[in-house]
Amino acid sequence: SDAPPTLLDLLRRFAGERPQATALLFGGDRLTFAELDRRSSQLANGLVSKGIRSGDRIAILARNHPVFYELLFAAMKIGAMMMPLNWRLSSAEVAAILADGEPHLLLLDSELDCRADDLDIIPLGADFDTWVQAQPADDQSAQSARSEPSLLLYTSGTTGKPKGVMITPDNLSFVERTAREAWGFTADSVNLVAMPLFHIGGIGYGMMALSQGGTTVLLRQPDPSDVVTAMRDHGATHGFFVPTVLERILDHLEGSDAPPPTSLERLVYGAAPIGRPTLDRALRLLGCGFDHAYGMTETAGTVISLPPRDHLDDSDERLRSIGRPFPWVELRLADPATGDDVAPGEVGEILIRSPVVAPGYWRKPAETAAAIDAEGWLRTGDAAIIDAEGYVTLVDRFKDMIVSGGENIYPREIENVLLAHPDVADVAVIGIPHERWGESPAAFVIAVTGATLPENDLRAFLRERLAHFKCPSLIRIVPELPRNPSGKVLKGEMRKHEWWSR
Ligand code: ATP
Ligand code: MG
Repeated sequence: SDAPPTLLDLLRRFAGERPQATALLFGGDRLTFAELDRRSSQLANGLVSKGIRSGDRIAILARNHPVFYELLFAAMKIGAMMMPLNWRLSSAEVAAILADGEPHLLLLDSELDCRADDLDIIPLGADFDTWVQAQPADDQSAQSARSEPSLLLYTSGTTGKPKGVMITPDNLSFVERTAREAWGFTADSVNLVAMPLFHIGGIGYGMMALSQGGTTVLLRQPDPSDVVTAMRDHGATHGFFVPTVLERILDHLEGSDAPPPTSLERLVYGAAPIGRPTLDRALRLLGCGFDHAYGMTETAGTVISLPPRDHLDDSDERLRSIGRPFPWVELRLADPATGDDVAPGEVGEILIRSPVVAPGYWRKPAETAAAIDAEGWLRTGDAAIIDAEGYVTLVDRFKDMIVSGGENIYPREIENVLLAHPDVADVAVIGIPHERWGESPAAFVIAVTGATLPENDLRAFLRERLAHFKCPSLIRIVPELPRNPSGKVLKGEMRKHEWWSR
């Protein structure tokens, strides 16, 4: 058939063609393609012996570890689902996700805790390794189907409770084209993977080198000095970092005398808005190509990206954009109320149709129907505009839009203005009730350490740069902002009266 190879097809191909090539490096451990294929078969057989059947969920609560790779391939081999949990969540949040996903087993990091009464917990450690290695290594993948979910991945929970997204081998098969056609991976690539594997950014990008027969260097977590050391030691060519982590890596490099790693070819950043100062610093300090990535759990990774050549352009406008959709991605901008296409140049909701779009949310038929229409268009909830050449610029999330006296105001526009103030370290703008206008913007600002930020100065700064109706009616200096474990600001929390009025 014409269907692209799945990641499992590729693993098997490399295990046959170049069995001794290095698939994964982790601490002092090295796994070849043949070993990764064999270990995933052994884990699959072990899981079957524990009663796991097609469609069952195997949860994993762990910092980054090669077992994520073994488990995902094991799940694909037996038609089960890997269900990663974010270890930064509170125990109540973990409990809520376990209750939703109803896994049959939980693989647990030896350094982490989890109380779950009715759940069979397997600690990851020496005993687990011995158990896996004692399993038969035959690959009994007869049941594996490429359109049955093999990954149950929860969203970040920025706008509400995390939702379980069912991701199939078909969805993930586009990792291979992304790696080869968009991001320049080859069999010689060395991918530094430090972002958490429980998010799509981690697990999706974490498969890029593997899809080409290249090497993945896996780190437990994105500690900046570990990242830089691992890049140097292993000659990393590629990597992906969210803006907050990229910033810490740049701080680390600026604070040390050693030059940046010279092996780097391409770095991807994205998943959250990036401040212009961070981007400029990255371009200046790292001297490699950069790709800006936009995507979400529901699209199993990146769907729109801005390639390196567009980072060399002097035009600021292009750098502010997230680029253009991949060739296998259809994009429309629609009025969120009517679903009709918006006129050129107007703000609309990003709709995506592509074979990467997940079949839906786990046991949430109503939410699935609301998110994906009968023609397969996914509503992202993200507001954007598109220019004549097809470049997309994100405006904000529609859920965060403020309607003030009939005018739509996108908080991110106000935030961007404030972020350009030298004494502003961070800011979040929300809508609060207003007697006359219905709603009006309120800005909560974190000052740069040591700076005093008189409210009147900020007001004057904003008035010079923004239309009057966009100027916040309330400005408050705060020590911190409520964030979810991915570092995204929880505006829903901020909009609660107790938060903003305190
Ligand atoms: P939830 O869906 O639970 O509210 P979430 O949307 O943050 O959480 P993810 O799937 O991890 O969960 O994140 C996808 C969202 O992240 C996108 O819908 C978009 O709002 C934001 N995002 C992704 N890429 C970028 C980017 N390059 N720049 C700015 N924002 C981005
Ligand atoms: Mg979302």
